[in-house]
Amino acid sequence: MCICVNCYHVTNCSTYYSIEKQHQKQKLNTNPSFIPQSPIIKVNIIGDHRITELDWDVVECASFVEAPGKWLLSQQLMSI
Ligand code: SF4
Repeated sequence: MCICVNCYHVTNCSTYYSIEKQHQKQKLNTNPSFIPQSPIIKVNIIGDHRITELDWDVVECASFVEAPGKWLLSQQLMSI
């Protein structure tokens, strides 16, 4: 699981923005200004010979600041 979902910076992070682009998801912020230090992204290849998807997750990051549920709360505010 991507650690960004529980990170304080998720709503303004340029790396998370790139992850959203890869997942083709609605963006929390289309102009993020925060540049994290040393994020490590794990890319899983899911599928078979017919359909292949790439799943991108940040698994380590020196800028991570714990904020449980920050991503979920932001998603809920976007849908209001
Ligand atoms: S964990 Fe790192 S890459 Fe992910 S939102 Fe936080 S600062 Fe950005």
